[in-house]
Amino acid sequence: MNGWFGRVLDIDLSSACIKTLPLDEQIAHLFIGGRGLGARLLWDAVKPGVEPLAPENVLIFATGPVTASGYQTSNRFTVTTKSPLTGTIMDANSGGFWGMQLKKAGYDALIVRGRAAQPTYIEITLAGISLRDASHLWGQRVLATSAALGQNDNRRNVLCIGPAGENLSRIAAIMNDGRRSLARGGPGAVMGSKNLKAIVVEGKDRPGIQDQERFKFLLYESRKMLRASPLTSQALPEFGTAVMMNIVNRIGALPTRNFTQSQFEDAEAISGETLTDKYLVKNASCWACPIGCTRISKTDKIESEGPEFETTWAFGAQCGVNDLAAIIEANHLCNELGLDTISAGSTIACAMELTERGLLASDVRFGRADLFAPTLEAMAARRGIGNELAEGSARLAKKYGAPELSMSVKGLEMPAYDPRGMQGQGLLYATSNRGACHMRGNMLGLEVLGLPKLIDRFQVQGKASFVNLHQNSSAAIDSLIVCKFTNLAVADEYLARVLTAVTGVPYSTGELIRTGERIWNLERLYNLREGFTRADDTLPPRLLNEPVASGPSQGWVSKLDPMLKEYYRTRGWDEQGVPRRKKLDELSLSNLVNSEQ
Ligand code: SF4
Repeated sequence: MNGWFGRVLDIDLSSACIKTLPLDEQIAHLFIGGRGLGARLLWDAVKPGVEPLAPENVLIFATGPVTASGYQTSNRFTVTTKSPLTGTIMDANSGGFWGMQLKKAGYDALIVRGRAAQPTYIEITLAGISLRDASHLWGQRVLATSAALGQNDNRRNVLCIGPAGENLSRIAAIMNDGRRSLARGGPGAVMGSKNLKAIVVEGKDRPGIQDQERFKFLLYESRKMLRASPLTSQALPEFGTAVMMNIVNRIGALPTRNFTQSQFEDAEAISGETLTDKYLVKNASCWACPIGCTRISKTDKIESEGPEFETTWAFGAQCGVNDLAAIIEANHLCNELGLDTISAGSTIACAMELTERGLLASDVRFGRADLFAPTLEAMAARRGIGNELAEGSARLAKKYGAPELSMSVKGLEMPAYDPRGMQGQGLLYATSNRGACHMRGNMLGLEVLGLPKLIDRFQVQGKASFVNLHQNSSAAIDSLIVCKFTNLAVADEYLARVLTAVTGVPYSTGELIRTGERIWNLERLYNLREGFTRADDTLPPRLLNEPVASGPSQGWVSKLDPMLKEYYRTRGWDEQGVPRRKKLDELSLSNLVNSEQ
C-alpha cells in the first residue's frame, strides 16, 4: 500500500502491552486516514455509553496517506476520542512536526488505551517503543516538559499535556512541538485521565509514493497556485489568520461580549494588521508549508507563537478586551497550561456575563484583561471559581441557572462568526458533529470573501446544499491530511489527484467528496449511538430569538429551522436527522448499523 504503511500501533497503558496491528486495506480506502480513519477505529474501539474519562475511552492519533509525503502542508495529524466536554465523537487536528514524525516512525495510527498506574510517557524511537516514568514531569508546563523530553533534539518531537490536562479540565488541549495544539473538546483531559503526560516520537522512513513523476508535477503546480492566490501568498503570511478580524467586523458578524453584539468598536486594535505592526517578530511555518501563517509575537513580558484569529477574538471582542498585548499573553499562558483558547476565552466571557447579571459572584467582567492570567491559572489548577470554569461554559452557565448564556452547540463553545450575520454558518454550527466549529466546513468563503463566488449571507433557502458540500469536503481534507489553508488556493479536484498519485487508488473529485460524506455520516451514526437527537442540532436561544441591535446585520436572527429541514432532506436523512438506509447503503456504512442491531 503506497501512502499508507499499513500498520497501527496499539498501546494499552493498563497492561503495558504494546503491539502492532495491520491496517485493514478496505478501511484505509474507504476512510483514507486522519479524521476518517480515527472515526472508523473509534467506532470499533469504544463501546456506546463509555464515560469519556474512564480507561475504556481511547485516544487515536492518526496520520493520512499524504502526511510526510512532502506535499505542501502535509504535516498534520489528528487525535480522535469521545469528548469529555460534549460526549460526542471528537477529533482535533494540528500541524507542526509531530504528525510527520509519527508517520516517519512507520505508523498510520497510534491507539492508546487504558490507564497507567503512575504518570507515564511513551517513547517511540529508532531504538524501539517503551513506556517510561513521567513522575518528575507531572505538574510541569508544556515548554518545560517538551524541553525535558528533547523537543527538536535531532528528530525527536514531543506531544504532551500541561496542568489543565492533568487536572482533567474538560477544555484541556494536547500540545505538540511545545506550541501547537489539538485543542477542541478536551482531548487533554482524556490524556490526563490515562496518566499519560507525553508521547515522544522520532522517525526516519518515508511512506512510498505510487507515481513519483505525477506527484512531483502536482507539487510544482500546487506551489504555483499557492503563489498565485493573494490569500495564501500575501494575506496569511503578512497578517496571519487575524487578517479576518476587520473583515468580519465590518459586515457585522464579529461576536462581541458573549454574542450580545455583533460588532466590536475596537476591532482594529486587535486585528492582524495591528499584530503585525506592533508585536510581530517573525513568521513561522509548519513542516513543508510555503504559506507560513504562524506568528511569533513579542510583548514586554513574553515572546510566543500566535495568536490566531480565533484566539484573538475569544480573548478580545468576545471578552470586550482591546489590549492586544494582554491577548498575546493569555494565548501564551493557555499554551503553557494546555487549554483550548476558544473555549477558555468564551467560558470567561460567559462568566463575565453571569457576573454582570448578578448570577455569579466573581471579579471577571467585560474588559478586565488584567484578570486573564489569574483566571486561567485557576482554571488549569481547578482552584476556586476556576474549578467551575474548567468545566466549560455549558456546565458553568447551567450551574448558575442560566444555560442560555453559554454560547455553545452540543457544549462546544462557538468560534468567531455570529450566525445572525452569516445564515449558512449558523446551520454549519448547529449540525457540526463535534459541536460548533468553523473547521468542519466554513461558509466564510461563500458568504463573506466571495470564494469562489459570493452568495447572499442572509439568504436562507438553498444554503443547506452548500453547507453539505463544505462539510463533506472538509472531512475529506482532514483525512488526507493537509492544512485547510491549502484549500484556499488548491481545489478539491487537485487534492484528489494528489491522493491518487500518492496511493495509486483512483480517487475522482466525486469519490473524494463522497468519502467525506461517508465520514460525516459515520460521525453522525456515532453521535446517534450515544443518544444525540435532532434537538441537539440547534443554536443558543440568543441567536434564534434576539435580533442584532445595530450595524450591518441589524434586525437579523438565525433562521435555523427551515435550513435544518432542507439540510436533513439534502443529506438523505429522515425528519429526525437519522440517515436513511438508502443513504447508508450508498456510503457502504450499512454493515455498521447492522452489527449494532
Ligand atoms: S498555513 Fe499555517 S497552519 Fe497551515 S500548515 Fe502552513 S503554517 Fe501551518
